[in-house]
Amino acid sequence: MLNQEILNQFKCSGCGECCRWGGSVLLTDDDIPKMAAHLGLSEQEFIDEHTRLAPNRKQLALLDQADGSCAFLKGDRCEVYEVRPEQCSSFPYAWSVPAGCPELDKLLAEQKEIDPRSNKP
Ligand code: SF4
Ligand code: SF4
Repeated sequence: MLNQEILNQFKCSGCGECCRWGGSVLLTDDDIPKMAAHLGLSEQEFIDEHTRLAPNRKQLALLDQADGSCAFLKGDRCEVYEVRPEQCSSFPYAWSVPAGCPELDKLLAEQKEIDPRSNKP
């Protein structure tokens, strides 16, 4: 987990990098009706058109583009930002993110310069 000081300073630049990471955008039971309504679809239509079974075989995940980025990423923008899944809206607060978000990487590097003992596992 990131420390509170880092989280307080964190500001997303909207670069879209985290939407290009490999892996699955897992959906909760609350995400599905919310996203379906936003897109004007029934829940079943949303599931059929925009999701796949996640590798854990227990949850649905959003479809990916050919390069592995999320299907809802257009350029650097999320097309469903207002109703993005909890997995997305909780980033980075509920995540164990070692690296990869440019804004977090910057803050972690700055903190390490100030206190080289910080951020050790
Ligand atoms: S990688 Fe970081 S800065 Fe870029 S969109 Fe994701 S959370 Fe925001
Ligand atoms: S739903 Fe939006 S915020 Fe979440 S990974 Fe896809 S493009 Fe990014």
